[in-house]
Amino acid sequence: MIIFKSDDEIKIMEKAAELVANVLLKLEKLIKPGITTEMLDREAEDIIIAHNARPAFKGYKGRISKRPFPGTICASINEEIVHGIPGKRKLSEGDIISIDVGAKLNGFFGDSARSYLVGNCDDHAKKLLKTTWDALNDSIDQCITGNRLGDVSHAIESRALSNGFSVVKDFVGHGIGRDMHEDPQVLNYGPKNQGPLLKKGIVIAIEPMLNEGDSDVEILPDLWTVVTRDRKRSCHFEDMIAITSEGPKILTRI
Ligand code: MG
Ligand code: MG
Repeated sequence: MIIFKSDDEIKIMEKAAELVANVLLKLEKLIKPGITTEMLDREAEDIIIAHNARPAFKGYKGRISKRPFPGTICASINEEIVHGIPGKRKLSEGDIISIDVGAKLNGFFGDSARSYLVGNCDDHAKKLLKTTWDALNDSIDQCITGNRLGDVSHAIESRALSNGFSVVKDFVGHGIGRDMHEDPQVLNYGPKNQGPLLKKGIVIAIEPMLNEGDSDVEILPDLWTVVTRDRKRSCHFEDMIAITSEGPKILTRI
């Protein structure tokens, strides 16, 4: 069941969304060869706690893993798609790192992700990153009242396929509010003109995950990290969008 948010609730949600956006901006400045994902994680946690919020992912038990997630951020490198566990691994020149951050503030969740190029990357990495970002923006353009959720999903898949990339089907975006994951599920693929009608008060986290190779995934033995089965690279961006009578309002960009 979709939970509609009032204008006042969306204002409160904006604060949680702004916080995760700020964390990502801060982390972006630290990304360079040699830094460990653990260092990025510590920085993110410090910022969240300093804002009287709490890290949303830490301790989270997923639908696959019963092992609580140990990090504040998910740090997923190259063939890792999402849910990478921060640790002692150092970033290397040419890596793609995807960072996902969640925080709970004043009873509501913020959730956003960005992919970054570490130092000099090859042209295909640049194209993958740009296409994933474009796919997110295309899907946001569809977030207008009267459209259907399928229009959002379709926009992601269209942009991916027309650039020679695939979309991940096993992980999806979601509604967000007092719970991190609410209805509806926001698929990264599918036909137009299907699914629920978009109405004022719906807030969704759209999160395209695009792969260089095919869409199949595997879970590593750590029970969290999702990787491409063919071990080709992947990118992930996520923004929170409120459907308003004036069009899409992107809560996680500042
Ligand atoms: Mg996320
Ligand atoms: Mg999410």
